[in-house]
Formats: sequence, structure tokens, C-alpha cells
Amino acid sequence: MSESFIKNIPVQEYDVVIVGAGLAGTSAAMDIQKAGKKVAVISKLHPLRSHSGAAQGGINAALSAEDSPDLHAFDTVKGSDYLADQNAVEFMCQKAPETVRWIANCGAVFSRSSDGHIAMRPFGGATKPRACYAKDRTGLALLQTVYEQAIAAGVRFFSEWYVSDLIYKDGVTRGVVAFDLLGLNYTIFNAKAVMFATGGYARAYKVTTNAHANTGDGLSIVARHGLPLEDMEFVQFHPTGLAGRGILISEAARGEGGRLYNSEGERFMEKYAPESKELAPRDIISRCIAMEIREGRGVGPKKDAVEIRLMHLGERLIMTRLPELRDLAITFLGQDMIVEPVYISPTAHYSMGGIPCDIEGHVKKDSRGTIVTGLYAAGECACVSVHGANRLGCNSLLDALVFGRHTAETIINDLNNGTLILHKVTAEDADAAIGEVEGILHSKGEESVPVLRDRLRESMTENAGVFRTEESLLKEREILAELSERYRHIHIDDKNRVYNTDLEEAIELGHMLDYARFIVEGAIARKESRGAHFRYDYPERDDKNFLKHSYMFMHSDGTIKIEYGDVHIGKFKPKKRIY
Ligand SMILES: Cc1cc2nc3c(=O)[nH]c(=O)nc-3n(C[C@H](O)[C@H](O)[C@H](O)COP(=O)(O)OP(=O)(O)OC[C@H]3O[C@@H](n4cnc5c(N)ncnc54)[C@H](O)[C@@H]3O)c2cc1C
Repeated sequence: MSESFIKNIPVQEYDVVIVGAGLAGTSAAMDIQKAGKKVAVISKLHPLRSHSGAAQGGINAALSAEDSPDLHAFDTVKGSDYLADQNAVEFMCQKAPETVRWIANCGAVFSRSSDGHIAMRPFGGATKPRACYAKDRTGLALLQTVYEQAIAAGVRFFSEWYVSDLIYKDGVTRGVVAFDLLGLNYTIFNAKAVMFATGGYARAYKVTTNAHANTGDGLSIVARHGLPLEDMEFVQFHPTGLAGRGILISEAARGEGGRLYNSEGERFMEKYAPESKELAPRDIISRCIAMEIREGRGVGPKKDAVEIRLMHLGERLIMTRLPELRDLAITFLGQDMIVEPVYISPTAHYSMGGIPCDIEGHVKKDSRGTIVTGLYAAGECACVSVHGANRLGCNSLLDALVFGRHTAETIINDLNNGTLILHKVTAEDADAAIGEVEGILHSKGEESVPVLRDRLRESMTENAGVFRTEESLLKEREILAELSERYRHIHIDDKNRVYNTDLEEAIELGHMLDYARFIVEGAIARKESRGAHFRYDYPERDDKNFLKHSYMFMHSDGTIKIEYGDVHIGKFKPKKRIY
């Protein structure tokens, strides 16, 4: 890269730059813009293609007379295997009813009960039906509504722009470096505040419900600056992905009454969770399915799936409440749930871990809670932590919307009270980021990106998936070290600067390789089983040693250091989870 080119990089100034245009980023931008601040949202996708739009099942809120925010909080904490911070959980559950009513008033068309109220269905781990839904396309209804509101407020979106680095120097946040995918033109976005809302990281697994874009970029970008990531070992495996494909059959299918059977025609959840059966939390059902398959009671040509049966619900209910799910199963497996069972198996779905944040959305720089001035995060890339070791279904859209908007409020306050100033950038601040992108574009090594990525995703599924052992994790540590080394010698064939998806995928693989190491190191160190993290060699939860959040730091030599921080326990004292 010639010096003059670097000097010519345009610099745009904002009060706030938000990376990510899903539910968290877009809702925050809307509020910040309405408060009269200058805000830009940068998204590598068109906002409506963000993964929020793929959410099917619903959004939780205790709206009915027999339910309460307190009960919602209890279910969430129990579901989290007591690792969630209870102050954050209480805040989210209290805010849930007003948040759902607010978005309904903005125009989100929820499904309604016969008396005209917002309809709610049961979901796993919830003692009352509290999943408010728009058929089985809830996320799209919410995202479209928030996007419309943001556009009406005048938010400036940079769609199909890729953020490649955070400008963070001397403990000060200054902005981000980004380029447009259309022409690979670099721009520095200089801002008083930067908010990450970059979504989840389950794309590191081969079998996953996650969209192609969910490559955890924001996490690796932050971690490369020496800032910590929290609880990364906790990856949620959803019990019902279409067999062999991973594509989600929403928990709404079980919420509406779907039942799980093994090859012997046994409704096996009756023996594992006699009370809640198919409505036990996801971590438990995923393990039960995996156990049935392991013990030879799987169905399908490879005996690597179990059945979900919905035939007894009838065509009318399926067509009115689960039409998308039916389409997906027909398209990808040729199985019509109205007349036959659908084959399903666990699939990597959600990231409980992420960028550590306090309740206000400030990013933390250590396990004691010291905050980074000017840096914020919300949504799935953040760890507040409301989901602890296992998230309950329909709490994530809620998390994105509640904490997206609450973080906006924090940023507005921080701007108004003068905590944040614009720290000027120089063109050199973009040197490293641009050097890296151009280095990949011109790379001529012998390694292929798709080959390395397949190896990463297959081995993570195999060794750091639903079941883990010291042996499998140590093996994965070695595989990741080898893949990272090979990544230094990649090549990409397409050298074009216009819509170069090869380049984007190569950058994303770099992110995946970095954060995968946090998942594995966290899992090696956590010698217990809690929520989604199940160790065969340590099958019990160990509150004495591990009722703690892990904070992991990547050093410049690539090693990862772990410290542990306290969990905020409130009125719900840790107990054994029985469902
Ligand atoms: C199939 C599926 C179904 C789900 N169903 C439900 C459900 O029913 N209920 C529920 O509560 N939760 C559900 N979830 C989870 C929930 O949808 C997500 O956790 C939530 O929507 C995340 O929102 P977000 O705003 O944090 O991120 P996302 O919506 O994922 O948005 C991330 C944004 O970051 C941008 N981005 C990322 N990296 C970069 C970069 N380097 N540069 C620029 N932009 C970048 C992307 O373009 C995107 O705009 C589901 C998830 C999946 C995968």
C-alpha cells in the first residue's frame, strides 16, 4: 500500500458509529438519531438480511395475568444454570412487557388470540406461555418495524460495508476502519462512541442454524486489541435442526405440541424430563437426543437423527402457526410434517458468550468491571450476561431489543454529560487494518480458504460440540493451532476489488479461527458441566469452583489467559435444575 493512498483515506466524523444493523444495532440507532445525535450504522449485509430476520419462534414478555416479570426472571436464571447475572435478568424481564407493547404500537403485526390480545405460546423452560409471536417469522416482523422507524428518524445506513478494525489506542476508542464491498474503498469513521452489535458466532460449527454472515467478526476485532471476551465456552446447541442440514425447526414446533421419538417409537423425553418433556430447556433436550443417537436409537439412513412428530396437531394449526417450518422441512428433507415425522438433530445455534458489558452497555476491560470509555456492545455479540450458561428460547430477540435501546440511552447520556469527546484520528490509524486486508487480497500462499474453513467447522462440531472431554478439547486446541498457522499461507484466486466475496470470506475465516480458540480454551479450563457446556469427564456442576464468569484475553503471541469474575446472584439461590 503506497503512502499516498493511505493519506487519501476519507475520514467521516460522527457522534456514534454502530457496527451491525440487526435488531440491537438498528433499534439503538433509531433512538440515538431521535435524540439529535449524528449516527451511522455500518453493516456488511443489507439491514433486513441480518440474522435477526431469521428468528422464527417469538419474543418473551410476561403479558398475561397469571404470569409476572418475576417468574420470567426466575425461569431465565434457572435456565441459565445460575450463571446469569441476576440484576441484568431482572432488568430485562421488567422491561419486556413495555418493549413488546412498544414495538406492537410501532406496527409489528403480532399473531392475536381470539379476544384480540397478543397471542403467546409455551416455550422450553418457561413456566407460563409467554412467547409473543408473528406466525413463525417473528424476527422479520420485528426487524422490518425497527428498520422502518430508523429510516423515518433519518438514520444513515452504510449497507454492504465491512468493518475490519476498531481504532482503539491508549485505552481510547476513536472509531472504526471500514470498506465498501462494492469497490473496496476504505473510510475511517471517526466517532465519540462505537457500539458493536455484530451478532453471533455459531458459524464456527459445521452443523448450525446460523446465517453465513454469523462469523463473530466483532468479537475477534475487539479481542485483538487485548480486550477480554466472556463465557465463550457456552455455545447453545438447538435440539431441532433438520437432520444433516442444521436448518432450524423452531422450538415453536414443540411449543405447539410437537413430540420427540426414537427409532423404537419411544417418546424418550418422558424418561429424562418427566414433567416438562419436550418443553425442557434446550441444553437438556439436545443432550438427550445426542444420547439416544449415541446409544443406537437414532433414525434415518445414518441413524443420526430422531423424529419430531406434529401430525396430531392437524393441518389447520400447522398452516396457520408453523407454515415456514413446514416449507423448510419439505424443501430440505422432502418431509411434510402434516402427514409424516420430520428428522431432526442438535445444531449449533446461539452464542451465550461475547464482549463483556455492564447493564448499561459499557464494554468491560477486566473481570472487575472497569469500563472502556467510548465502547459499547449489545445483542448477541455482547455478554451482559442475561443467558448465563444456557439461553431460554425467545429471550434473545428480547435481549437485542431491550439492551439495544438501553445502550442507546446510555450513549445519549454519556454524550450529553460530556464523558465522550472526539479523539481525532490520523490516516496511520488505519494502516494495520488496511495492510491486513490488502495482504489477504494479494496473498499467494498454497492454502485454500474453503478447505481450512471446512476443517475448522467439522472439527469444532466433533470436538467442542454437545459433548466435550479433556481429550477432545486438547485435540481441538492442536487442530486450531495448525489451522491458524496454515491460515498465514492462504491464497485467494479473485484479485478483483469489486464485490470480492473471496476476500470477505478469507477475512471472516481469520475471525473464526481467533474466537474458536476462546471457545476451546474456556471449555478446557471449565472442569464442570453447566448449561450448554457438558464435559463427560466432569458431568456435575461445580458451584464451589466454577460459579464464575470466565474472562479471556488474547496476547500478542496468540496465547489466551483466563481470569474468573463474580456472578451477580440475587434472590434466586443456585439449586439443582429439575424439569
Ligand atoms: C434461525 C434462527 C432462529 C432464531 N429464532 C429466535 C427466536 O424465535 N426468538 C429469539 O429470541 N431468538 C431467536 N434467535 C436468536 C436471535 O435471532 C438473535 O440472537 C438476534 O436476532 C441477534 O440480533 P443482533 O442484532 O445481535 O444481531 P444480528 O441480527 O445477527 O445482526 C448482526 C449485524 O452485524 C453486522 N455485521 C457483523 N459483522 C460485521 C462486520 N465485520 N462489518 C459490518 N457489519 C457486520 C451484520 O451485517 C448484521 O447487520 C434465532 C436465531 C436463529 C439463527
